[in-house]
Amino acid sequence: MGGNYRFIPDFTSEEISEIQLEGLKWTVGHVSVNSPFYSERFKDVGVSADNIKSLDDLRRLPFTTADDLKNGYPFPLLSVPEEKVVRIHGSSGTTGKRKILCYTEKDLRVWKDMFARCYELAGLTTLDRVQVCVGYGLWTAGAGFQLGSEHFGAMTVPVGPGMLEIQLQLLVDMQITCLCSTASMALLLGEEAQKAGLSDQLNLKRCIFGGESHTPKMRRQFEESLGLESSHDISGMTELYGPGAGIECTAQDGIHYWGDRYIVEIIDPVTLEPVEPGEVGELVVTTLCKEASPLVRYRTRDLTRIIPEPCPCGCGMPRHDKISGRSDDMFIFRGVNIYPGQIASVLEHFPEASSEYQIYLERREGLDFMSVKVERKPDVPEENDSNLAKAISDEIRKFILVRASVEIYKPGSLPRSFAKTKRVIDERG
Ligand code: ZN
Repeated sequence: MGGNYRFIPDFTSEEISEIQLEGLKWTVGHVSVNSPFYSERFKDVGVSADNIKSLDDLRRLPFTTADDLKNGYPFPLLSVPEEKVVRIHGSSGTTGKRKILCYTEKDLRVWKDMFARCYELAGLTTLDRVQVCVGYGLWTAGAGFQLGSEHFGAMTVPVGPGMLEIQLQLLVDMQITCLCSTASMALLLGEEAQKAGLSDQLNLKRCIFGGESHTPKMRRQFEESLGLESSHDISGMTELYGPGAGIECTAQDGIHYWGDRYIVEIIDPVTLEPVEPGEVGELVVTTLCKEASPLVRYRTRDLTRIIPEPCPCGCGMPRHDKISGRSDDMFIFRGVNIYPGQIASVLEHFPEASSEYQIYLERREGLDFMSVKVERKPDVPEENDSNLAKAISDEIRKFILVRASVEIYKPGSLPRSFAKTKRVIDERG
């Protein structure tokens, strides 16, 4: 075990299991009494707090889904009287209503403590200077990164997303050491710094990034262009306080999650049964001390797996792998289930291609066609395009067992966005 941390507790796995059982009993008791939504659900399946004798009893509880949150709008899962609610946050609702979650004062304390652990595990000290370049306001990102950094004790520079010129100026003038952003924003800032000839004037050491999927290639690209010592993928979602639910350590082999704050299950998204230890499935979370909007077996739709082995970094907190996709992002092409992450993994094999890509799906005369748009790297000659396209297409055929036509574009021509980059354009109607 590590043991030398200020924020990360030094629990053994037995101690974590004990905390989980106590927390599970508390949560089930709390929501059975205080949440109309959960008490109804539990009544339907005939479980109560008295039924929880061991962690295995978790499986007797019903799942909670994003639809349950939407149906309970504007205050879904609310399990405390309104006078205890001090904050709300929401996530973007692409269709229909947003997911709105309530926080008590204790919920905010737990959140910022989890977040401070993330900065600690990423190797920051109170002498670090942290620039927060993620969305503020209703979103959890800005508030979370800021609360956590202040609680940790670092100098915090809240900027928000976008505004590349201002970001670069602050990075240089304030000699910022830690950038907090999405992976695409880090990539963009790295490109801009190089274009503006400012790379040498940066003092960045770390980037904490999250909020969207990324590829190892994308990561290497921004680590290099920003001159980083390390970058750390942070996990979390609005439903589970916000970002800060876990982070990669310096070993960069999966995400340590705070097992004393929530329980992780990995299930088969079709059968809803637990997968074998170490197998990929859907991440399901149950909170252990969340007061205002507790989660009981919440289906996140994120795909990952538990990493059962102890981490070489010495931190005893459990690990899951990086999120490899969303169970909803999956598309079916000529009868094959495909996750965009699989295309990204194929592109990893090609140093001549950048990490940007887009998948276009269309239907012609009743048949589905897939084309993958890829950018060549700046120093790669254009004459190589047709060879590269064929090689990538062959590799897709070999690994994903489907045919795709690959089109190579010049560097910087595929759309970038500050927020989540849309990878799949499905025009099959
Ligand atoms: Zn570790």
